[in-house]
Amino acid sequence: MSLIVPPDHPRYYSLLYRERIVEKAKEGVVVLQGLIAHGRGEAFDYMMGERTTPAALKAEKAAVALLKLAKHPVISVNGNLAALVPREIVMLSKALNAPLEVNLFYRSEERAKRIADLLKAHGAEEVLWKPDAEIEGLSSERRKVTRRGIASADVVLVALEDGDRTEALKRVGKKVIAIDLNPFSRTARMADITIVDNVIRAIPNMIKFAEEMSEEECKRTLEDFDNSLNLRESAKYLKEWVQRMIEEL
Ligand code: ATP
Ligand code: MG
Repeated sequence: MSLIVPPDHPRYYSLLYRERIVEKAKEGVVVLQGLIAHGRGEAFDYMMGERTTPAALKAEKAAVALLKLAKHPVISVNGNLAALVPREIVMLSKALNAPLEVNLFYRSEERAKRIADLLKAHGAEEVLWKPDAEIEGLSSERRKVTRRGIASADVVLVALEDGDRTEALKRVGKKVIAIDLNPFSRTARMADITIVDNVIRAIPNMIKFAEEMSEEECKRTLEDFDNSLNLRESAKYLKEWVQRMIEEL
């Protein structure tokens, strides 16, 4: 049985999502390595005050702009993302008209199907999970993609990604949008747009932008966006938060 987290606990949300991800690990949606990745994310989130910074919000808006202007945008889904925000990624997929594709580092047929079923239970009409193509120059299981999805995409949204695949996707000419709480990861530095925020906040913010932004606004937003500048700004919030905490000691 899962623990009941009291709502007045100072780490309420953090504990709630921990419970959720542990539950999904027991169901075989999340792998044990995914729990470690989540913990690394929590550490960065903690040091950013567990909130969406103004820089992250800007990146979220630019990401939606790029996805809306894309010819064939695809949302890549792994176990953690599906466990944390299943309903929200289905909503984002619909708002952007971007298919969901299951892509796993620790891939098994059974696990991929389980994730697809979870998304369908949350309203997804279609989930791409049966690979019939490969990304060149990538040896991990993440090379396996679908022709209708990632293989033919021009823009791919990824979360909790590893640097290798981001690099491989870039090499074959895709634009990559990454959601990664670690502003220093290879993924974060390699992506075209990097959102330094927790997926539990980033995805809902993106749904809102997807519903609100006009084509004109999308174009303007992209013209004004500079990813390396924005990434530095995100890292600065981290530094300032740590500095403030040190002064309070
Ligand atoms: P790279 O190869 O790009 O340097 P990595 O190997 O450090 O990446 P992994 O451990 O493979 O990264 O993936 C986990 C990444 O996802 C970490 O950078 C972590 O901070 C981030 N992360 C974990 N949980 C979340 C979350 N809920 N929202 C956003 N990012 C998260
Ligand atoms: Mg890695």
